[in-house]
Amino acid sequence: MIYSYSSISAFENCPFKFKLAYIDKVKPLRRNIEAFMGSRVHEALEKLYRDKLYAKLDSIEELIEFYNKRWKKEMKGNIFVVKEYDIENYRKMGEMYLKDYYNTYKPFDDGRTIALEKRIFFPLNEKYWINGIIDRITEKDGIYEVHDYKTSLYFPSKREFDETQLAIYAIALQHLYDAEEIELVWHFLAFNKEIRVKRKSYEDVRKEVESKIKKIENAIKNNDFPLKEGRLCNYCSYQPICPLFRHFYKIEEMKEEALNEEGFNLVNKYWEIERKIEELNAIKKEIEDKLINYARSNDVSHIYGSEKMVNIKFYKNIHFKDVRAIENILKNENLYEKYVKIDLISIAKAMKKNELPDYLEKKLKEYVEEKENIKIYLRNLAREEL
Ligand code: SF4
Repeated sequence: MIYSYSSISAFENCPFKFKLAYIDKVKPLRRNIEAFMGSRVHEALEKLYRDKLYAKLDSIEELIEFYNKRWKKEMKGNIFVVKEYDIENYRKMGEMYLKDYYNTYKPFDDGRTIALEKRIFFPLNEKYWINGIIDRITEKDGIYEVHDYKTSLYFPSKREFDETQLAIYAIALQHLYDAEEIELVWHFLAFNKEIRVKRKSYEDVRKEVESKIKKIENAIKNNDFPLKEGRLCNYCSYQPICPLFRHFYKIEEMKEEALNEEGFNLVNKYWEIERKIEELNAIKKEIEDKLINYARSNDVSHIYGSEKMVNIKFYKNIHFKDVRAIENILKNENLYEKYVKIDLISIAKAMKKNELPDYLEKKLKEYVEEKENIKIYLRNLAREEL
């Protein structure tokens, strides 16, 4: 299997989505407006630099006209907007990014363009191959630059900043051009800012990507692609067929008919019962408080009704204020082993995540079995947005 930065991050974001896109090869069912706008801006910047190669400097008016023509041509029905803005807002945002970029970098001759929208395909090691598309490669005084345009409204802090994508491209450049000095340049168009990184070596990224691919290969081997619900679900192209949302799409399509749909009705009944239980629990708590007060003020521990009686016990428990100190005392007294409990939850988690060494996992597996658990959660419909 050939990997890419997109496929690796798709797996990290949601293994199930990765399976749909890269194993089952299901075509995306819808496109979010952010990705659509990003593609149009990328096309316009590609045209700008391509025309420049032919000694033609586009005016900003020409560039915006091109962008809008492409926008109109590509705008088809399966594009969706998550946030409470119109498609027109996004079109204007793209225009704004292009204008800012144009005014900042005009006349676009900082370095010689080596390639635009360059398709790459190279071996990460003797086992794995990587492909991808680099937005722009330039060269200046023997230093190669990898340029990448970002159109998201997210400007990462130093701590959040992830160099992986362009570092992979740097490894590609070493392979394709024998490039020795490589600088990575991110253009955050929404902020008219660039981030530059120049490293002596990208070997740590090679290792990191190798280990990420190993995790994917493991998932493929075990056919283990869990759903990972998160903020990105709102933007997922596969939402209509995802088990988390499929029923939602079904009842949306049914409109009033949904009132007769079994699942829809069961959830409504379940919710009604939950609400009643909550109300009754609140009343129960009130009565419990009154019973405690009654027991205290009348100095009784048994309170009698017609068929039942309530027994109220007042007692004290020991609370450990400093667990570390207790641990140390027990260790010093050689009693730690006697009182410490094995953390089976952490072991199970480590096994699920394949974090244990193979030999250990093999040994443990003899004494482990998988059991199905079922939990039902009642949640609000509104989902968190970015
Ligand atoms: S909607 Fe969310 S959980 Fe479902 S496939 Fe997409 S990212 Fe994964």
